[in-house]
Formats: sequence, C-alpha cells, structure tokens
Amino acid sequence: MKDCLFCKIAAGEIPSDCLYQDEQIYVFKDINPQAPVHFLVIPRAHLDSAAQIDETNSAVVAHAFEVIARLAKEQGLESFRLVSNVGESAGQSVKHLHFHVLSGRDMTWPPG
Ligand code: 5GP
Ligand code: ZN
Repeated sequence: MKDCLFCKIAAGEIPSDCLYQDEQIYVFKDINPQAPVHFLVIPRAHLDSAAQIDETNSAVVAHAFEVIARLAKEQGLESFRLVSNVGESAGQSVKHLHFHVLSGRDMTWPPG
C-alpha cells in the first residue's frame, strides 16, 4: 500500500533490523523497544489491522504464529508476550497489521 510505513519496511525501501523474512512475512526489531526483546511480525500484504482478518487472508496469520513459535524457541525465550493493538484507543499507531513479540522482563497484567 502506498505511503504505508510497514509496507515500505517489508519492501526494503526503509531500513530495518530484520530477524527473519520469507515470501509471506517480515520480522524486524522494534525501533523503540519496550522490553529487552521486542520485535514485530508483519504480513507483506497490507492489512490495516487484525480487524481485517477473514477467511480470504487468515493463512498468513497461522504462518506468522508458526514463525513466532520457531523464533522464540531459537532465541531461547521461555516466556513472551504476543500483542496486536487494533485501533487508536488500543494503542495502534501504525495502520498495518503487526504482532509485537516482547520478552526478557517480567510483565504485568492487565496492560495499561
Ligand atoms: P503500535 O503502536 O501500532 O501497536 O506499534 C507500532 C510499533 O512500531 C511501535 O512499537 C513503534 O516503536 C514501531 N515503529 C514505528 N516506526 C518504526 C520504524 O520506522 N521502524 C521500526 N523498526 N519500528 C517502528
Ligand atoms: Zn502496509
């Protein structure tokens, strides 16, 4: 999608610290980490948020979660938090579906 920050990052048009990529997804470190480990997992194909997931596009979500589990194992993450903010009130600042993976510190619940 034109003028989408994460579409440009996935396309390599804006630099990022990439941890993994394939034909469906792109994984990179968050520029403003909220935990010792904080990376983002995005589909290459633009979706505004998790609210746009339906039967036509949900396969990429399953794939993303498989990769998240594999990366967590490879990085030795015993515990991690998986978050996707949907809409401004929930804290979504970039309107391209992304999953946050946070780890390396104790976390509180409920989130603020
Ligand atoms: P949201 O607030 O939408 O849930 O998450 C967006 C995330 O993207 C934030 O954690 C923010 O730090 C991160 N972010 C915003 N711009 C960039 C960027 O240009 N590069 C990287 N690597 N992360 C970014
Ligand atoms: Zn996008």
